[in-house]
Amino acid sequence: VAALVLLPVLALNNMLFAQSNTEVENKVNEIFNQLTLEEKIGQMIQIASTNGDEVPQYVIDAIKEGRVGSILNAGTPKAIAKIQKIVAKESPNKIPLIIGRDVIHGYKTIFPIPLGQAASWNRGLVETGANIAGKEAYDEGINWTFAPMIDISRDPRWGRIAESLGEDPYLTAELGAAMVVGFQGNELSAEEGRIAACAKHFIGYGATENGKDYNAVSIPDYQLWNTYLPPFKAALDAGVGTFMTAFNDINGVPASANQFLLKEVLRDQWKFDGFVVSDWESMSQMIKQGYSENLRDVALQSASAQLDMEMVSSSYQAHLKELVESGEVDIEMVNTAVKNILRVKVALGLFDKDYKGVPKNTEILSDAHKEEAKKMAIESLVLLKNDNALPLAIGKEKIGIVGPLADAPAEQVGTWSLDAVIDQVETPLNTFQEAYGDQIVFAKGLENARSNKTDQIKATVEAMNEVKDVIVFAGEDAILSGEGHSRAFINLPGAQEELINALADAGKNIILVVQAGRPLTLEAVENKVNAILYAWHPGTMGGPALLDVITGKVSPSGKLPVTFPRTVGQVPIYYSSIESGRPANPQMLGIPTGTPLDPVGLTNNYLDVSVTPAYAFGYGLTYTSFSISKPKFSKLELTKGEKITVEVEVKNTGKKEGAEVVQLYIRDKVASYMRPKLELKGFEKVYLAPGESKKVTFEIGPDQLSFFDKNGNVLLEKGKFEIFVGNASDNLVSEIITLKEVK
Ligand code: BGC
Repeated sequence: VAALVLLPVLALNNMLFAQSNTEVENKVNEIFNQLTLEEKIGQMIQIASTNGDEVPQYVIDAIKEGRVGSILNAGTPKAIAKIQKIVAKESPNKIPLIIGRDVIHGYKTIFPIPLGQAASWNRGLVETGANIAGKEAYDEGINWTFAPMIDISRDPRWGRIAESLGEDPYLTAELGAAMVVGFQGNELSAEEGRIAACAKHFIGYGATENGKDYNAVSIPDYQLWNTYLPPFKAALDAGVGTFMTAFNDINGVPASANQFLLKEVLRDQWKFDGFVVSDWESMSQMIKQGYSENLRDVALQSASAQLDMEMVSSSYQAHLKELVESGEVDIEMVNTAVKNILRVKVALGLFDKDYKGVPKNTEILSDAHKEEAKKMAIESLVLLKNDNALPLAIGKEKIGIVGPLADAPAEQVGTWSLDAVIDQVETPLNTFQEAYGDQIVFAKGLENARSNKTDQIKATVEAMNEVKDVIVFAGEDAILSGEGHSRAFINLPGAQEELINALADAGKNIILVVQAGRPLTLEAVENKVNAILYAWHPGTMGGPALLDVITGKVSPSGKLPVTFPRTVGQVPIYYSSIESGRPANPQMLGIPTGTPLDPVGLTNNYLDVSVTPAYAFGYGLTYTSFSISKPKFSKLELTKGEKITVEVEVKNTGKKEGAEVVQLYIRDKVASYMRPKLELKGFEKVYLAPGESKKVTFEIGPDQLSFFDKNGNVLLEKGKFEIFVGNASDNLVSEIITLKEVK
């Protein structure tokens, strides 16, 4: 196949900074020139402090001695003000510390977990969510968040899938970039309310073997380029100020010492000029991984990869000076690292900020912030099943509310909600009781979502005697997903399946609302319930969002950002796998026509479960109906440099307002590397009143039709491409286009 090799697209200069490059560089150099080697190394060290108003003595000492450039988890605003005051008065060079924190899906106003946000397929809302999180954090003295996590996640056993934007490179790239812009603005700047973002984890953390956290990672080169790197390139193009390395190795070389990734890709090709931080002790972890003999080795190996800042472990602190003096580490490595760090500090305006008082925080948990969190929670809800059970008209009849997650504020905010204000969380039970008072009959059913004790189930069913419709709030406690929280079984934990079955046996109409940090396998209960609404962990405003959607005030519009398996044995299962299985056409196998065939022998089916998922990527139901017209192509053949357009008209053909996500996928029919059977290349969410219609136009050109070879060269190959449009990866219509010439 004739191919055109395009040069990797380089990052534009000036991407990172609102101030002119020269202004920033002059300031960086001016500060840099005053530093001794020890002070330079100090900038490259990040230490963890502690919660509360107090600043521990070791932190004070490190600041006074110029041995620290950044602090994470620095405590309350009062502690942060104190820290920056010590810097300004008593540190050798008075270089402000960059204060980092995991502000992942909200600071005090908690938004849905990132995987839930991804289900909104709404770039604007995702950006707003990050913006509000950043503002609230900024108001409490935080300068830098360790988000977005843009690790492609295809294994629902992995606990950190909750923090990801799902399985797809394009969706993750688009929404990850939106988060970067939400935190930073269009570029890193000193503007009030802006904090630096961090693209993490570079790279491959989501590919952890068997879904176990911190496990080894093997990624073939062409997949690295086509699947794992694109979201990071998108974050870079969106101006992200920092990158974080991953705990894992990639094909035997730890991410935190990976010269290929950190130097060749990130610096040489992509021209990244912000700074790279390690993950929490991901450097010293290389000893355990069997890559480094001792801490001295760690420092040498990470420095050789230009890892600029060490998080928490102390190899740079203990050994970098000696390594520079012995010539084993080039002083230029240190100089570059320090300038990378100072560049971000200068661009963020840290040198101009006044840390005398505790910052004002009038906006934190404001009505406006909560309103946005509610909007996002609404759009994150995915309706998986609906046998006319939803929307639920709550009128004269009493309604049952059951389940351990109906009133579990600390669970509802999900993983990475370090600063959540739990008493501000609005739970479904609160919200429904407030709206419908005595019409709500509540019984918890189980002590918590993990409980195996079935002793409350009977009484719960009895309590529902007078009700027909029961909303069951089931799922996972927050602790069952997130870092270090992988599961081998991904069904409803504890006795929740028994609870649902008991209600079903009693003849109840069941609306199952699942709050969880990952796709759960729902096979055991699916046919026992009348509707399934997937709510992820919806955050502070989960209750009101669920009320609006359950009662039909708003139609659900979320679409799955990740494939839902039927059973854990199907994992990994993702929509963009390659076409597999032996040809079903006997002639292709040279088998004479008429030969009786054993169909099983010709397929790649499992013997005991379907190969199709429970719910496909991009899938989600709503209360109205939409039609998407047959796609209109501007032409069906294109040649070098050309783009064509595909246009569809989306119409709300139902009776309620709603939103549809129009999705565009491609398949490269024949290529020099096998290409995915489907690849998302565009999407647009459209909001339509009943009867209303809108045109959606997608462009198809070299950007959509090219892919990477194993060395990261962009390949554009002529031939046929199938272009698919629809509203889910398993509900598409297609047309073939031909790329005639590429040279
Ligand atoms: C996580 C990172 C996080 C860091 C700081 C690590 O354990 O992997 O994602 O940003 O801790 O809290």
